[in-house]
Amino acid sequence: MSASRIDVAGVSVSPDHYIDGRRVASDDTFACVSPIDQRHLGDISSGAQAHVDAAVTSASLAFPAWAALGAEGRLPFLRRFAEAIGRRADAFATLESHDAGVLRSRMAHGVVPSAMQNIAWFAEHALSLQDRTIDTPQARHWVRHDPAGVVAVITPWNSPLLLATWKSGPALAAGNTVVLKAPEWAPLTSSLLADCAQEAGLPPGVFNLLQGAGALTGAALVSDARLARISFTGSVATAKWIAKTAAENLVPCSLELGGKSAFIVLADADLDAAAATAALMYRNAGQVCLAGTRLLVHADIASAFTEKLRQIVERLVVGDPRDATTEIAPIIHMRQLERVQGFVERAVAGGARVLWGGARHRYGEQYFAPTLLTDLHQQDEIVQQEVFGPVLTLQTFASDDEVVDMPSGTDYGLGGVCYGEEAHAMAIAQRVRTGFIWINSFGIRDLAAPFGGIKRSGIGREGGDWSFEFFCDVKDVVVPRQPFKASFSHR
Ligand code: NAD
Repeated sequence: MSASRIDVAGVSVSPDHYIDGRRVASDDTFACVSPIDQRHLGDISSGAQAHVDAAVTSASLAFPAWAALGAEGRLPFLRRFAEAIGRRADAFATLESHDAGVLRSRMAHGVVPSAMQNIAWFAEHALSLQDRTIDTPQARHWVRHDPAGVVAVITPWNSPLLLATWKSGPALAAGNTVVLKAPEWAPLTSSLLADCAQEAGLPPGVFNLLQGAGALTGAALVSDARLARISFTGSVATAKWIAKTAAENLVPCSLELGGKSAFIVLADADLDAAAATAALMYRNAGQVCLAGTRLLVHADIASAFTEKLRQIVERLVVGDPRDATTEIAPIIHMRQLERVQGFVERAVAGGARVLWGGARHRYGEQYFAPTLLTDLHQQDEIVQQEVFGPVLTLQTFASDDEVVDMPSGTDYGLGGVCYGEEAHAMAIAQRVRTGFIWINSFGIRDLAAPFGGIKRSGIGREGGDWSFEFFCDVKDVVVPRQPFKASFSHR
């Protein structure tokens, strides 16, 4: 391991790539800056073509032996991998709060346990993949899920540890080897993940990490013809580029992209519960792909609902993500803050009314106040485009027929929330076009369930068997029931 580890609030982390079971430094570096106070946390290695080549070569060489282990053989490695993550729970929380502004409390109670599960659950689940059979009068079809090869995993900055494990877990469990490209605005927890892979004894090349900018390191990785799969989470613009590039080599891609999901509040909803859940859309400073950022509220209860939401929002604690009481943390990067601010300013210039927020928050330079905008038209930019900040919009509707079409009124189709009397909400949910929708709840995820969006929110599903369908090559081994008689004639 490189001697050049950096120290972030007492946690030692490598700034380098992890290739072929060891740390590799680059001459070129990029700065890792904390969103909390713009403090320089360290210089991170920036991957060039040679690093990408080395990582993919190592992963290719490691693949046959890792695949040959079978799901049972891989299980102890992956259990140790998950345990190594758990042992570093505190360190992960420190790093992700410093480099991504994620709440420490969320790391401890949500992200780190989920990251462990992402590795351990898929490793267990892979055991049930083998030996599916289809029996017909003619033959037994022995359907195998074979490992596909080298998988490129590319993750965004808003939840780097969770997403790295969400993709690497099933990819590794299925017998593939992985090259992870970490997000350049939040590179640190991916580096600690590589320490965990090493401590767990994953053979060199099974799990590799590249640091660097998307346009450089990421672009070189997805252009590599040796890849078997690309699993990407990020923006629509990057996904289009990746899909085009992967098409050159016919490499299958799974694309989990942005959202502009609806949060429907029907007239028969429990307004206290709906308002409490709506306030959660400000979590992670609104930098959550699946947040229901478009509030669609029945006109009859709109003012009562808005007043309840206002009372909750007024009490939200904006502050330092390291403090246990903080609920609203900073925006990841000054560029992202300016992007959020630009959306709000253009909306207001176009006639939108600010019900609360609407500007930077006084707590710190990189903070934006929880915001609600109304008096909007469906074609307004703020209604159509993903802001990825603590900005919600509110539109009203008068009937079920009107509201079922509103969620599909953008190019996105990731998630959704519907509050109302359960049967009523279920009836609406069935008519709404989206990847998933929560009834009287939000954010319930189960590793066995499919996750993904429609339209510009993505292509493909991950989670449970859907992850394995993507990360495996399905092979049908056909065994005839009667001795096979070869004949040119079909008589
Ligand atoms: P982004 O597309 O800018 O970057 C995502 C990753 O892609 C980063 O690691 C980046 O370095 C890399 N990248 C950029 N250009 C690349 C290229 N040409 N080739 C290969 N890799 C490249 O997205 P972001 O700003 O980091 O993340 C925010 C976006 O992610 C939002 O749109 C959000 O909705 C989306 N997101 C979606 C989900 C989901 O599950 N659907 C989850 C989280 C975030």
